Amino acid sequence: MSAQLIDGKAFAATVREKVAAHVARLKEENGITPGLAVVLVGEDPASQVYVRSKGKQTVEAGMNSYEHKLEADTSEADLLALIDKLNSDPAVHGILVQLPLPGHLNEDLVINSIAPEKDVDGFHISNVGLLGTGQKSMVPCTPLGCLMMLRDHHGSLSGLNAVVVGRSNIVGKPMANLLLKDSCTVTIAHSRTKDIEEVCKQADIVVAAVGRPEMITGDWIKPGATVIDVGINRIDAPEKGEGKTRLVGDCHFDSCAQVAGAITPVPGGVGPMTIACLLANTVTACCRMNGLTEPDGLTA
Ligand code: NDP
Repeated sequence: MSAQLIDGKAFAATVREKVAAHVARLKEENGITPGLAVVLVGEDPASQVYVRSKGKQTVEAGMNSYEHKLEADTSEADLLALIDKLNSDPAVHGILVQLPLPGHLNEDLVINSIAPEKDVDGFHISNVGLLGTGQKSMVPCTPLGCLMMLRDHHGSLSGLNAVVVGRSNIVGKPMANLLLKDSCTVTIAHSRTKDIEEVCKQADIVVAAVGRPEMITGDWIKPGATVIDVGINRIDAPEKGEGKTRLVGDCHFDSCAQVAGAITPVPGGVGPMTIACLLANTVTACCRMNGLTEPDGLTA
């Protein structure tokens, strides 16, 4: 391996420290404790793990965590009524509705019922519009984490060629908008892109958000480029024993690391940054709501 490893786990720890320090200041100087409300509908096991982890890290950062666990057959009206209540609760500065929602609930309607200034996932249509027009917004956590690591590694991103592989609303599109805001020349590649290997090979920065295990290999990467691997894929790992699995990214780590200048691992890269950025967004939302100075380096 010749690439420098971008250690998302260590970076996330520094983000959490900055958040905790700012929370302590808010408490001491302003008597305010930021609060994050997480709403979980149903019993999806992966979602339960995420929600537990979010609650734990919120409390560890000194903030209040409010968990609302609703039955899988909760009606849309009841869910909207809860969101309405959280929207007007002054102790709640961030609201996150864990996705995916059960099929009978309209996700767009639910997300767009969250007050935009409390939308710490950055999925509300107002925040999407603000980000798309280069204005101050709440920024989706995963792309925000990628941006923080890229800024830390490169300093300025201005003028760099960036290719984002994947055009989802939660990762690919906001990532592209953030890179554009930092003055990269941005290409978004997707399943219909022609000569995708050649497109990636032009990039100083490749952000992979595809959901296909190890799709991007070293021969797609320009020597010295930075590779940010958002993908989380579980694959069979017979070498670890029968029925065992392991996590891999959308990039083939070993071959990409031979060519790249820097690369994030999976696990331990983008993943840990996502919850750290949720905490950062909650503090940012709290500061904005109270007309206070936002913490440095925790927003786009
Ligand atoms: P989506 O399935 O919503 O989007 C995948 C994108 O990849 C689509 O735009 C699709 O193109 C594109 N794509 C699919 N196949 C190909 C291909 N063969 N060549 C080029 N592009 C392709 O996924 P998400 O954006 O939600 O997530 C992407 C990955 O990131 C997943 O592995 C997910 O688990 C992970 N993830 C990780 C997070 C973290 O915290 N680290 C958070 C969120 C996601 P098209 O639009 O043309 O179909």
